Amino acid sequence: MRGLMMQTPLLISDLIQHAARFHGDTEIVSRRVEGDIHRTNYRDLHTRIRKLANALTALGVKPGDRVGTLAWNGYRHMELYYAVSGMGAILHTINPRLLPDQIAWIINHAEDSFLFYDANLQPIVEQIAGKTPGLQGYVLMADADRLPAESAAAPLLAYESLVDAASDEFTWPSFDENTASSLCYTSGTTGNPKGVLYSHRSTVLHAYAAALPDVMNLSATDVILPVVPMFHVNAWGLPYAAPLVGCKIVFPGPALDGKSLHDLFEAEGVTMSAGVPTVWQGLLAYVDANGLAFSTMRRTVIGGSACPPAMMRAFEEKYRVTVVHAWGMSETSPLGTSGALKSKHSSLSAEARYAVKFKQGLALPSVDLKIVDDEGNELPWDGKTFGNLMTRGPWIVNEYYGEDKSALQDGWFQTGDVAVIDPDGYMQITDRSKDVIKSGGEWISSIELENIAVSHPGVQIAACFGVAHPRWDERPLLVVVRKPDSTLDREEMLAFFDGKIAKWQKPDDVVFVDSIPLGATGKMLKAELRRQFAGYRLPGVDPA
Ligand code: ADP
Repeated sequence: MRGLMMQTPLLISDLIQHAARFHGDTEIVSRRVEGDIHRTNYRDLHTRIRKLANALTALGVKPGDRVGTLAWNGYRHMELYYAVSGMGAILHTINPRLLPDQIAWIINHAEDSFLFYDANLQPIVEQIAGKTPGLQGYVLMADADRLPAESAAAPLLAYESLVDAASDEFTWPSFDENTASSLCYTSGTTGNPKGVLYSHRSTVLHAYAAALPDVMNLSATDVILPVVPMFHVNAWGLPYAAPLVGCKIVFPGPALDGKSLHDLFEAEGVTMSAGVPTVWQGLLAYVDANGLAFSTMRRTVIGGSACPPAMMRAFEEKYRVTVVHAWGMSETSPLGTSGALKSKHSSLSAEARYAVKFKQGLALPSVDLKIVDDEGNELPWDGKTFGNLMTRGPWIVNEYYGEDKSALQDGWFQTGDVAVIDPDGYMQITDRSKDVIKSGGEWISSIELENIAVSHPGVQIAACFGVAHPRWDERPLLVVVRKPDSTLDREEMLAFFDGKIAKWQKPDDVVFVDSIPLGATGKMLKAELRRQFAGYRLPGVDPA
């Protein structure tokens, strides 16, 4: 028997309509590329979104067309999120930190119709303009007086002129909730970028789950500052979850240094934020060095790469900011797990509670997880057995854009991550499958070694990876950037691992460097490090 309830589709336009109607005067604050602080609210934003939808229609953008954006976190980008998807077209967010050739490749692969971009990204646009023949036009996200006198990008239009000239009468169309809404390419740290094509249904369901208390814990009383970029997996869904709950949003623009972020946190009363560990590293270093605190910030969600335990402790103990460790990837929209505690953990010691919180956590509702061996056999949830992490659910990829074949194995998506799951269901990533250090048939977790290294007070950042060894296949090499005033040496670093892990898991050697290469999403580029250290001879290994 069928249920007798309405069949209204889950559409992204409903999120912004809801916020405009019920939280109309709630603020949206942006640090703009122009340098100033801009203020609007959900009601006025929705008016401009409707104008933009009319402007896009006038430009010839039709349902299903891809519209590219090369932009930071700001209100204009948010307007594009809703206008493009709301009218049935597809928002394609592009990471400006990629190389111009990669950007052009992605634009061509997605067959974008228009490219909208922030003013300070003009130099990139000049470099790609000759390589993207499919683009029908470029839109500078600023007033007309900022249009460059000359540009290789043509035709080149000004965003504000388009919005100004358009009517604000636009009725959001209703269509199948499985219609594509946005497109995001994986950052390519594991090969060629691949397009993940989200739907209205997957996006709205993900937003509901993101807002849950044990995930992002969002409510209308919050002030959120998404540090995670809107070009990286839809800023982890925050641009959708925020209107869903009606919370104030503070957009940081391109200024992600410690001082700019901290100033904004304090001036706007930010209560919640989310980002990758490398950005928090900069913020914590600034706050530490200047003897500052967070007067309103209460929670942060950290993910994208493993949150070092030392960072979690610093946030929680020194600054009274609760950390939730989350895991996900472009293919999972991205939230797959989050590491909140259960009621039974309240009686545990602080250390035992940390041990739970350091893990990447429980699957979000509707998301399923399993770990399997190389033959696909399911492995036990004993907190010890490593396996390939598989997942499935309504906001997990089914097929990559343009590949025309399933991305699944027996109905599950293989994440490329290696994990353990404990009897309570808490998942812990031990590595990316290609980063696991395979030593004499045993697996060593590079993340575990890095976490130990960065808990040393003299270490700013550390990367661990396997280098060739004639007897053991691979042994761990630790590459470390010291804190500015640290005198840490190799022996002290190695001794620091004693008692924290089994002896055979200790790195064989330590190299101090000035910097570690970071990718376009702020993650350490292990592949680049492996290239840099190709042929590195570990102590005790004879020359070949
Ligand atoms: P790409 O795969 O192109 O690097 P993603 O941003 O989608 O881009 O990266 C997803 C990957 O990041 C995951 O597969 C996982 O390896 C890693 N990751 C994400 N969150 C965490 C976390 N909390 N701990 C450890 N690794 C993480």
